[in-house]
Amino acid sequence: MARGLPVFKCLFCEHCCYFSEEYEMPVVYPWEKRRLEEIASVLGAKLSFKPLQVYMDDEGNCAVALYRWVIRGFCPFFDRATKRCRIHEDKPLACKMYPILLEMPSGNLLVSGKCDWVKKQGPQLMERLAARPNDIPRVFPSEFEAAKKAFIEFLTIASFTKAHRLRPVNVNKLEDCKSVVDMDDYMARFE
Ligand code: SF4
Ligand code: SF4
Repeated sequence: MARGLPVFKCLFCEHCCYFSEEYEMPVVYPWEKRRLEEIASVLGAKLSFKPLQVYMDDEGNCAVALYRWVIRGFCPFFDRATKRCRIHEDKPLACKMYPILLEMPSGNLLVSGKCDWVKKQGPQLMERLAARPNDIPRVFPSEFEAAKKAFIEFLTIASFTKAHRLRPVNVNKLEDCKSVVDMDDYMARFE
């Protein structure tokens, strides 16, 4: 307990590794996507991603900053027998921070009321954390570290796009891009 607050302990149910709604599916950085693809190729899993946030420079070249990892049903890395993630060390920050949800671009932290552990604590915990979000790191210490890391990555990209005058592009109009690369590959050209 942290000053009267419980500390999160995952119950290893299976709810957060099963997806039916796209808005709930993990949002990943390009380097996370590539790491997941590498692991999937070894494990023989098939993955699917959609560009979610894309920027264009003055020459019409585009860079993908975020992808939606499209998962229908159980994640291919979820082991239903043990109810464990098979890629725990390599899972993306979106999974590492759950049940914390990170709002972009504000950086506001929310707690998912869909998590079984959160539900088990009763409504008082959600009410307390909504009123005092500064307590979130006490309840979810390692999840908070993952959320912090994700937000720092986001700020780094935001500051780069501002400095290089990149503008957001409609992800449904990527045919307008002269080229499309991952944001970290694009940024590397300026190092
Ligand atoms: S990567 Fe692991 S934690 Fe994330 S959805 Fe898949 S099985 Fe669950
Ligand atoms: S829903 Fe919550 S308790 Fe259940 S596996 Fe996910 S994080 Fe753990």
